[in-house]
Amino acid sequence: MSRKLMVAGNWKMNKNLMEALTLASQVITRAKKMSGQVEIVLAPPSPYLHTINSMSKDLSYVKVAAQDCHHKTSGAFTGDISASMLASMNLAYVILGHSERRKHHHESDVLLAQKVSAAIEAGLSVIFCCGEPLSVREKKEHELFVLQQLEASLWHLDATQIKQIVVAYEPIWAIGTGQTATAEQAQEMHAFIRNSIAQKYTQTIAQTTTILYGGSCNPANAGALFANEDVDGGLVGGASLKAEQFIQIIQAR
Ligand code: PEP
Repeated sequence: MSRKLMVAGNWKMNKNLMEALTLASQVITRAKKMSGQVEIVLAPPSPYLHTINSMSKDLSYVKVAAQDCHHKTSGAFTGDISASMLASMNLAYVILGHSERRKHHHESDVLLAQKVSAAIEAGLSVIFCCGEPLSVREKKEHELFVLQQLEASLWHLDATQIKQIVVAYEPIWAIGTGQTATAEQAQEMHAFIRNSIAQKYTQTIAQTTTILYGGSCNPANAGALFANEDVDGGLVGGASLKAEQFIQIIQAR
């Protein structure tokens, strides 16, 4: 059964305007020469979303993602951005549940469930991040931990809504540390996530759900990670900030 392959670059809070436009332009220029079999997603900081989305609009397989959204549609929430605002810019995706937001902004599973619903109701697809800290993996409780994240923030969705979700498995101990999960660790968790989706929804939905790996993915390790049956691509942080490295990762998929 076929499913969407994807490599997404999470730029986090990096790049000034000119740097961001240069990076986007370099990636888009290279993307034009690609087959389009892999969807390329750019997640720049929010001030640049509209411009970068306009730059990529002629390439159907290049999409733009926001890095967060608020759970309410509008109101007195200074500094926040709603899902409907993102949708009004014709963005395709929003990243939700990133471990940095869970940590620095104290985002709970319950809040994330609300954000996921807000995003889907606005017409966005969601790249939903999950993943365990090192202490949990050392206790061999990583599968239970991730299952609880999925249950708490995604399982309220119905069978139509869950199709708007891309899952990104990002073990916290691998994010920005240079310590990548092994190909075996990634495959094992991705298969577990897919099986959990099959049990909650259907085997068909599970087989068509895109599941990305994230955590110190780079041109040297991407090939081995992506070769796994259940790894449909990557969510890339640091290595997405350099066009050449990001392109090499896309080409590894
Ligand atoms: C991320 O933050 O989503 C990520 C995967 O970062 P890095 O690739 O830098 O580990």
